[in-house]
Amino acid sequence: MNRSTVKLSYLSAAVLFFLLTVHSTVAQENRPKSESTSESVVKSEEEWRGCLTPEEFRILREKGTEMAFTGKYNKHNEKGVYTCAGCGAELFSSETKYDSGSGWPSFWKPISDEKVDTETDNSLFMKRTEILCSRCGGHLGHMFEDGPRPTGLRYCVNSVSLGFEPQEVEVETVSKEKEDSK
Ligand code: FE
Repeated sequence: MNRSTVKLSYLSAAVLFFLLTVHSTVAQENRPKSESTSESVVKSEEEWRGCLTPEEFRILREKGTEMAFTGKYNKHNEKGVYTCAGCGAELFSSETKYDSGSGWPSFWKPISDEKVDTETDNSLFMKRTEILCSRCGGHLGHMFEDGPRPTGLRYCVNSVSLGFEPQEVEVETVSKEKEDSK
């Protein structure tokens, strides 16, 4: 092997190493967001202020409460999934929503226990169980032990803390009805 061949080999190795590095960086950046849905969402106070409305910030990040009977999901009976208004995590199904008469959207269980964290809340001279989105730590409301069967629990949630995604089956039914009436 002469000197120029050795130089060429070193050069090829360097170029190959460079290309591999670039490729792995691009692959990481292009990773779909859905893959990280179960990962925690951590933002600074300033970042949350930038992406939430003042009311959402007051309730989700400062543990506020909306006025009873004023929330948009209190008397909401569509079929679908209620998501976290902070991070979009799927939290509650319309299948477990019921009218508790409390003035806040109420559910007898979350989509899965891992979706909602609980913490003891001793504020306002009461001992209550606070419920939070396990993904972003957003304050959702409180959990009480006066719910219906089978759990006997009431997840009492601020509408402001929630988003809603209608179930696709419902959308298909509507469009089919439209087709039929043509
Ligand atoms: Fe969240």
